Amino acid sequence: MRDYDVAIIGGGIAGLSLAYFLAPHRSVIVVEREEGLGYHSTGRSAAEFVLRYNAPEVCALAAISKSFFDNPPEGFSEVALLKQRGGVMIANAEKVTRFEEVFAEEARANPELHRLTIDEAIARVPILRRDYVAAAYYDPHFWDIEVENLLQGYVRGARRHGAVIVERSNVLAPRREDDRWVLTTAAGDIRARTIVNAAGGWADPVAELFGVAPVGIVPHRRTAITVDLPDGIDAMTLPEINEIDEDFYMKPEGGRLLSSPADATPCDPADVQPEEIDVAWAAHYIEEATTVSVRRIFKSWAGMRSFAPDRLPVIGFARERPDFFWLAGQGGYGILTSPALGALAASLLVGAAAPDSFEAAGLDPSKFSPVRLEA
Ligand SMILES: Cc1cc2nc3c(=O)[nH]c(=O)nc-3n(C[C@H](O)[C@H](O)[C@H](O)COP(=O)(O)OP(=O)(O)OC[C@H]3O[C@@H](n4cnc5c(N)ncnc54)[C@H](O)[C@@H]3O)c2cc1C
Repeated sequence: MRDYDVAIIGGGIAGLSLAYFLAPHRSVIVVEREEGLGYHSTGRSAAEFVLRYNAPEVCALAAISKSFFDNPPEGFSEVALLKQRGGVMIANAEKVTRFEEVFAEEARANPELHRLTIDEAIARVPILRRDYVAAAYYDPHFWDIEVENLLQGYVRGARRHGAVIVERSNVLAPRREDDRWVLTTAAGDIRARTIVNAAGGWADPVAELFGVAPVGIVPHRRTAITVDLPDGIDAMTLPEINEIDEDFYMKPEGGRLLSSPADATPCDPADVQPEEIDVAWAAHYIEEATTVSVRRIFKSWAGMRSFAPDRLPVIGFARERPDFFWLAGQGGYGILTSPALGALAASLLVGAAAPDSFEAAGLDPSKFSPVRLEA
């Protein structure tokens, strides 16, 4: 039976980013239930990187992560991890007051944001409906993330430092032997000194398997569809389109138009599938806000965004169990914050201080401690 310092449960972006940052310092195994890494939330995201429109702590994590995305280590990825997309925030006539509030608030700290006339908005987004949009502004700070390249970069780097990654291994009934956990995996039984819970939507039930109290992480289902763009519309040059209150958003995806009704329906952890009603809303918003007519839905999917009660990530050791570490609750920003959170988790696991970038960003990592949520 092989011994590891750390067994990470979950082969999504959280577990794999941690494996990448931790493997140079500790022996690591990642245990994933599915055949295929990133099968759940990680493979179903909208691949958006944004510096704003989240809680201040999450915006700080995004800013810390940005330097990794812009300058990943040599050999990490053959393509740039971020592609500038830009975003146009829009409001209809009923939301103009709300639009003014949001614009005033956001533009105060960010002079790069600029208001668009309706003609300018349509010049940037030729599919916008003139009879829908009553106000718009442009925010350059939206990027597309090359999620698969990011994931594979983490996997390659982790393996280069000796990390073992096993798929098709559902952690069901861990047992204690001396001062170690014993897990059954596709690579045989393994022993680990420390368990990391990077199980996404299953974080609470996985904690309970190890006798650790859940912290109240609830998966929320979110749906997306893609449809064909009309001839003559270049997906490469279209910005994101965001309704001012995030009632919906749209962005190019694989040459088509992705639309999400920004649903956030609490659900049980599962291989969630899109509900007809949410697909219908996604299509409705396309027809309401744009001139694209939805003749055929090319693809629809749903995934989990898993939140702690205060909507901040949960990173750190359980109070009563110094051998159980949480890396969960990344909600709708787990891909874009993965460089910062993976590096933070690795530092805490080796007993080091948080990376300097946290102090430079004025971000106190103890805000993410699970202890804040423990009864
Ligand atoms: C529609 C949608 C749009 C999104 N858009 C964005 C976006 O634009 N930008 C962004 O940054 N984020 C976005 N997100 C959020 C992002 O996808 C998540 O925050 C992130 O993927 C969470 O990663 P994770 O590794 O924690 O979870 P997951 O990717 O779900 O990984 C957890 C893994 O744990 C495994 N597991 C669970 N239990 C066990 C067990 N007992 N044994 C073994 N393995 C187990 C699961 O099989 C799973 O693979 C979006 C999410 C959705 C659904």
